Amino acid sequence: MNRISWRSLIMLWAMGAALLALASCAGAMPKPASRAAPVADATLPTLAPITLAAGEKLRVVATTNIIGDVVRQIGGDAIDLAQLLPAGTDPHSYQARPDDLRQLNRANVIFINGLHLEEAMQPVLANLDGNAPVIAVNIGVPIRELGDAATGHAGVDPHTWMDARNVKRWVENIAAVLSALDPAHAELFVANAAAYQTQLDELHQELVAAAAAIPVQQRNLVTDHDNLGYLADAYGFTVTGAVIPSLSTLAAPSAQELAALQQQVEQENVKAIFVGTTVNPNVANQIASDTGAVVAPIYTGSLSDASGPAATYIDMMRYDMTQIVAALQQ
Ligand SMILES: [Zn+2]
Repeated sequence: MNRISWRSLIMLWAMGAALLALASCAGAMPKPASRAAPVADATLPTLAPITLAAGEKLRVVATTNIIGDVVRQIGGDAIDLAQLLPAGTDPHSYQARPDDLRQLNRANVIFINGLHLEEAMQPVLANLDGNAPVIAVNIGVPIRELGDAATGHAGVDPHTWMDARNVKRWVENIAAVLSALDPAHAELFVANAAAYQTQLDELHQELVAAAAAIPVQQRNLVTDHDNLGYLADAYGFTVTGAVIPSLSTLAAPSAQELAALQQQVEQENVKAIFVGTTVNPNVANQIASDTGAVVAPIYTGSLSDASGPAATYIDMMRYDMTQIVAALQQ
């Protein structure tokens, strides 16, 4: 790397550090402990039916648009669904807006990802005026845990949806909750859930087959933050580096970490850095232009808008795998 690009990289780092909460992270990518025990809160609460007037629909709120899409597949027209995060927003940093508060306070039930994904929204979720149950769709999902507290990387990985099998568990949870709250539509919810589960099974097999096109020794992923761990575990990849070596976008990389990543990209001849559409790509672009790697956009924290290539969860996963396979094959 020449001196000029170093300077621009450090400047970009300083800008990022000024904007983001500083986290002290030293060292290379943490090694995940394993797909360990399910989440601590492993059972759904018992919910009593809501009394609905004739023609009145169950009022359901979903935080992320990925959860919103899955809830919509199950609830269809039988529910009144509001999803809070618009397309393209980062779920880690999103803060509730006044209209979100109105939706949250009138809801009969609120579906969240949990696992600290909605960390910037947590104060609002913890202090709602309404009394809707707040249900983490990940109840019962095997969670990827990072155990290295010394480096500040400890924590649970919230990006569970990057393994299609985990979303099957979301579907079970969502169908059970909607059926308990609105038993008159339970048969519909269960039928919709079963049909969607079949699509998720097909999606999973399709992703396995697509990944198999890449030789195992080439299935290395460098990402924007540590968001592809579940995808890597499920589809046989290894995450070897990240611009922000953290489970959250709210952390910032140190200059040393960026220098180490740049060196790694050069030495290991990394072909692509996979950057989520909700993340500022400046640092990744800089590393790419200095090293000859490409920045490959993928959707991880948010769907695209309706006209984009990732308008639904299933489209998102297909699109991402296509991007990954294409970038690693070049
Ligand atoms: Zn993330």
